[in-house]
Amino acid sequence: MASTKQAKLDAIKQQILDDKVCPDLAKTATQLVFGDGNPEAELVFIGEAPGKNEDKQGLPFVGAAGKFLNEMLEMIGLKREDVYITNIVKYRPPDNRDPYPNEKLAFMPYLESQLEVIQPKLVVTLGRHSLNCFLPDLSISGCHGQPKRYKGRVYLPLFHPAAALYNGAMRQTLIDDFALIPAIIEKIKSS
Ligand code: URA
Repeated sequence: MASTKQAKLDAIKQQILDDKVCPDLAKTATQLVFGDGNPEAELVFIGEAPGKNEDKQGLPFVGAAGKFLNEMLEMIGLKREDVYITNIVKYRPPDNRDPYPNEKLAFMPYLESQLEVIQPKLVVTLGRHSLNCFLPDLSISGCHGQPKRYKGRVYLPLFHPAAALYNGAMRQTLIDDFALIPAIIEKIKSS
């Protein structure tokens, strides 16, 4: 039987469709990429927007960046099924352009609802778009790897795996930051 949390997430997904959020993006995208993983997760990852593979499969982070994300999860003893993964913007922007501010704003209430249902211990933002939707004044280069407590939630800003994938120094920094996650979660639980 689907968990109550899963049913609530399904209802949010349906609401996005019913509300016709970002109809222009919906027109050019194949489908809505809502989110994937464990509704009971302690850890939620939030990327920017679906790319080509995600648009095709209807799942977040299934391309090259997703493979790298899976590898880093494995490094800390987790599988995708243990965590929940989603994006700020839930339709693929045409030609993978950056999402526009109004598109990010339009999806934020639904993302907030997703987080309210899941109640994760830690929200990991992937890349600057995701970080700045929650913590607009922070710069990713200055705060990556440092947990930030804000309005009752704890965020961990990380570089985006797609940006770090082929950049040796950034890649190692992301791996090093990722390795901090288990200790950060333990600290949150014991505080
Ligand atoms: N990049 C993102 O930000 N999200 C995805 O789902 C895939 C790549």
